[in-house]
Amino acid sequence: MFHVKHGEFDIVVIGGGHAGTEAAHAAARIGASVALVTLDATKIGVMSCNPAIGGLGKGHLVREIDALDGVMGRVADASGIQFRLLNRRKGPAVQGPRAQSDRKIYRDTMQELTSQQQNLTVVEGEAADILLENGVVSGIELADGSRISTRAIVVTTGTFLRGVIHIGDKSHEAGRMGEKPSVRLADRFQAMNLPLGRLKTGTPPRLDGRTIDWDRLETQPGDDDPTFFSFLTREASARQISCGITHTNEQTHEIIRKNIDRSAMYGGHIEGIGPRYCPSIEDKIVRFADKTSHQVFLEPEGLDDHTVYPNGISTSLPVDVQASYIASMAGLEKAAILQPGYAIEYDYVDPRALKQTLELKTQPGLYLAGQINGTTGYEEAAAQGMVAGLNAALQVLGREPYVFSRTNSYIGVMVDDLTSRGVAEPYRMFTSRAEFRLSLRADNADQRLTQIGIDLGCVGVSRETLFRRKMDELARAKSMLVSESFSPTKLRAHGISVGNDGRKRTPYDLLSFPDVTIDSIAAFVPGVNELDHEIRSQVAKDALYAQYLERQQRDAAALKSEEDTVIPPDFDYSAVSGLSSELKNKLEHVRPHNLAHAGKIEGITPAALTLLLAKLRKKPSKRSA
Ligand code: FAD
Repeated sequence: MFHVKHGEFDIVVIGGGHAGTEAAHAAARIGASVALVTLDATKIGVMSCNPAIGGLGKGHLVREIDALDGVMGRVADASGIQFRLLNRRKGPAVQGPRAQSDRKIYRDTMQELTSQQQNLTVVEGEAADILLENGVVSGIELADGSRISTRAIVVTTGTFLRGVIHIGDKSHEAGRMGEKPSVRLADRFQAMNLPLGRLKTGTPPRLDGRTIDWDRLETQPGDDDPTFFSFLTREASARQISCGITHTNEQTHEIIRKNIDRSAMYGGHIEGIGPRYCPSIEDKIVRFADKTSHQVFLEPEGLDDHTVYPNGISTSLPVDVQASYIASMAGLEKAAILQPGYAIEYDYVDPRALKQTLELKTQPGLYLAGQINGTTGYEEAAAQGMVAGLNAALQVLGREPYVFSRTNSYIGVMVDDLTSRGVAEPYRMFTSRAEFRLSLRADNADQRLTQIGIDLGCVGVSRETLFRRKMDELARAKSMLVSESFSPTKLRAHGISVGNDGRKRTPYDLLSFPDVTIDSIAAFVPGVNELDHEIRSQVAKDALYAQYLERQQRDAAALKSEEDTVIPPDFDYSAVSGLSSELKNKLEHVRPHNLAHAGKIEGITPAALTLLLAKLRKKPSKRSA
């Protein structure tokens, strides 16, 4: 790791958070020389908020990053102290791997991998200016006046641009707690006429685990059979732990209600818009006024750390109110607050100013990734870092850009959403945003993306070797399962009951039936029992969705052909069953003139469009010219 503040690199990445590290690693793997410029090198890989990676939609992004040989999945596995596959009882398409991390191991592992990466140099300092020569990116200037020459820049400054922390009616400038904000760079972006806006996010108070009465609390262990993020990980390396669960109650809600005007948010001190899907506790009390309790997960921040992260109660209330509502919850009566919760407001750039490579349309060579583009979350940031880092490297190496598509990845879904629709609030990933979610599963991210990564040159030899071996094994397994078809009579003789329709089916077809398992197939198809456990389970998942995929592709084609369907100006959105009230409100507000227009509204998913289309079909609908 160098701290030299001069030099010449193909690419400069500004910021060593989740987007920055992924961008720097991706560009370096492809073969560009990269300087990762960050305010404090010891904070590379710091988790600003919750000590966890993954979840629904987010876990898919991490799997995709890993399929491209990125670092987030491996680091999350190395630091994982509790692994849980969310939605385990639902189908694989909507299952999301999640891991609670030891915050220190996460940061240290990220720093170790960063120091080992070839072509990557860490430079400590504040990037203060973007240098241009004849309108072309030529370098950056640091706050101390030193300069670094480069041909492309990836900016990943997170919540730091003109960051302001709010706790009650007190506020101060900061990038996150204890760190200074980035003001000069924000001024520079303003001077470049970038479309800037304000967003906010928040974090809960941190508690001292030694002062929590754990014996009174329910606990939640991880999965016995952990699902890792990386296709390379075989076992957990850190000790596994459980977390505790407590609940807010009527008294907690009363304390918050009585003091709501003292919250920075409700006291009118914050203009930025917060994440609707990650609301503060005061937001929850106001928005869900009829709920008398909310669950709070007490997540230890590390194996040798007493700090506990109470998940679900981020806040911008004053410290005295935080202390009294914490003490109102079971098990937390005597809990000491180690760091108060706070809200942070910061500048972001409207992502509609970006191409799908995350390069600014108006400034070639300047790429933006992460929270600066209006997203929230480590995973969303890292996935954008991957896109920007790869494309910056492809550009300086004189190669064609690579654009991820909505059909091959959640990464493509997110980039398309951001660049075509912009954001009205901090954007986070959900499985419902992906119209092709049956094929974009966490379990098959390698099948979708690793070959693309190999072609781009960002996948190392060991992963490539393992991947090829796995693909060969999968092909062999599938050929076993399609080589013979069986009549219903024969199947019944093997204990598999199917309708007596005279249709012959292959074992692969049968795996899409809900009650047919790979074990029941293995009883009569030679060779299946000898397959590796991972291959058996993967081929079964692939087969489960094979028929749905065909239907999904037909639906997508139908939707495309119906884009011109007119929506009458007096259309009653409240009568569309299955549509959330949030989407109904948005549609009422915009009153789109046709389905294509409706699809451009932030948050409107293909599933919502299908519901609208079904309702429109019930009435005679006109076609636009
Ligand atoms: P960051 O991880 O913030 O990294 C930014 C990096 O840029 C830092 O290394 C910083 O040192 C560096 N930097 C900034 N300016 C400069 C400069 N001029 N020169 C050099 N280096 C610079 N996400 C959720 O999903 N849910 C939440 O509830 C949530 N709550 C949050 C609460 C708080 C208080 C904060 C701060 C963040 C929260 N997040 C939350 C967001 C999550 O932390 C971010 O989404 C994620 O870290 C963004 O990654 P990033 O790489 O874009 O930026």
